[in-house]
Amino acid sequence: MTPATAWVSGAEDAQPVPSQEVLRGLGVGRGCVVAPVVVLAAPARVPTDEPVPADLEVAEAQLRGALGAVAADLRRQADEATLASLRDMLQAAGTIAADPALAAESVRLLRSGLGPATAVDRAVGQFAEVFAAAGGALAERVTDLRSVRHRVVARLLGVPEPGLPTLTGPTVVVAEDLSPADTAGVDLHHTVAIVTELGGRTSHTAIIAGQLGLPCVVQVTGVTAVTPGTRVLVDAAAGTITVAPTEDQTQEAARRQERARRLADDLSAGATADGHPVALLANIGTAEDADRAAETVQEGVGLFRTEVLFLDRATAPTVAQQISAYRTVVRAYAGHKVVVRTLDAGADKPLAFVRTTTEENPALGVRGYRLVRTAAPLLEAQLEALGSVIAMLPAERQTDVWVMAPMIATAAEARAFALSARAAGVQRVGVMVEVPAAALSASEILAEVDFVSLGTNDLAQYTMAADRLRGELSDLLDPWQPAILALVAGTATAGAHLHKPVGVCGESAADPLMALVLVGLGVTSLSMAPAAVPAVRYALAHHTLEQCRAIAEVARGAVDAAGGRSAAAASMDAEVRDVLGLG
Ligand code: PEP
Ligand code: MG
Repeated sequence: MTPATAWVSGAEDAQPVPSQEVLRGLGVGRGCVVAPVVVLAAPARVPTDEPVPADLEVAEAQLRGALGAVAADLRRQADEATLASLRDMLQAAGTIAADPALAAESVRLLRSGLGPATAVDRAVGQFAEVFAAAGGALAERVTDLRSVRHRVVARLLGVPEPGLPTLTGPTVVVAEDLSPADTAGVDLHHTVAIVTELGGRTSHTAIIAGQLGLPCVVQVTGVTAVTPGTRVLVDAAAGTITVAPTEDQTQEAARRQERARRLADDLSAGATADGHPVALLANIGTAEDADRAAETVQEGVGLFRTEVLFLDRATAPTVAQQISAYRTVVRAYAGHKVVVRTLDAGADKPLAFVRTTTEENPALGVRGYRLVRTAAPLLEAQLEALGSVIAMLPAERQTDVWVMAPMIATAAEARAFALSARAAGVQRVGVMVEVPAAALSASEILAEVDFVSLGTNDLAQYTMAADRLRGELSDLLDPWQPAILALVAGTATAGAHLHKPVGVCGESAADPLMALVLVGLGVTSLSMAPAAVPAVRYALAHHTLEQCRAIAEVARGAVDAAGGRSAAAASMDAEVRDVLGLG
């Protein structure tokens, strides 16, 4: 493969996609854009007849050298990455490349009579199988493993590593899957959308696209067969890719983009058409996120995922280190509200310094708040740091710091957390409702705390018993499922009776149609990726609270998720539906 052909097609055996074909997948975000496609190079194939090396010592040195060079490259890319989440992901891939177990297995296979590229390919295949079978966080690492494989194999075969050509204008980047390392090589100034065949709504690609506000569609079967250079219309709201769109479709997409730009100019506080306030808040994970979000989402932060700050640490951060991290975020939102979530480690969010025993079902194990059972000093240190930050805030620009615990299941847990947080000096204490038991005990839990926030991502996972990392279960994980809506409704009603705030900070809050339903059910604030706020603000501003209640009622009357969504869409204001492309 030469550099010039390296990116020409993603799949050698694929048939060209005929014009005007509409490919479907899962949309991330709401944007739409028309631009030519560039397809990320297909990974190098290992020849079936790779020669067995004559000199095993030399071959072993080459193999170890290739792994080492890839590890060093990934770490260099991590150091240069400007997005914190990308940096963490690159570091994780670098750690995999440097893992002695991967080198040892590859060398064992080499010495058993395989060629060096075949040995690495097989070793990675074995690890990937084990990771995928383990599920959860380990399954998420499979993309990193494969990206390490592609790089090492390319080096051993002396062919170019997979990558993109230099982009010269607006481009839709298409790939089978995008590893963090691939993403690091993407020219983000010219990339206007990302489309992949694999991945899910919580995959690396989706997270990074969401943070950058790029339209993204994942799980689009056949998209790598689109001829490079072909113009496509990427519609993240509809989850579609229209190959070679007509002039009319292109103009309509441009009109939607222009409308989206105009919506983003409105920075007013969230409220329904009749003035019922609904705070629109940002989900953030780092100080950088806070600085970026503060420019457009001015009402505050509804979910600060503190574990994101510590993903790359091998040892627990000290209280002083935590104070410094939290202060930066809290300062970016001086005068506004910041809801800090205590460490949500375990299951899909492993932290190296949080030792968990090997569990068969980590998502059902010691994760989130449950870590007080095994690592109480972690929570104590975090609350101490938060209390100190609050005590240091200047009186004239007080940030309203709230704290909440993830994965609460019982009122007793809520009470214990509230006691510890108040003792540390935090005034406003709440918990997340993301376990069905918590939703069903919302009144008892709210009696113990000042507020709750619905984490609909996990609430969907636990209500439907469907792993949130499995893209193929996305129909079950759909927040429009009647059972999930019922739990949200019950929690909001409990909050209304007790006059306590009930927010939503899961991905469902970012869907403007669902936002109308949530507000109609009695939810008092919505927290989401900053790029999602303008459309949600617009939808709310064009419906009264009574209308939201009526939309919520029709959604709840449906027997399945698709029926709820379409009934709600049919009941909303038709012009707003058109403007937001929710038809
Ligand atoms: C959720 O579960 O909905 C949530 C907001 O928390 P996270 O996605 O971080 O688990
Ligand atoms: Mg959660």
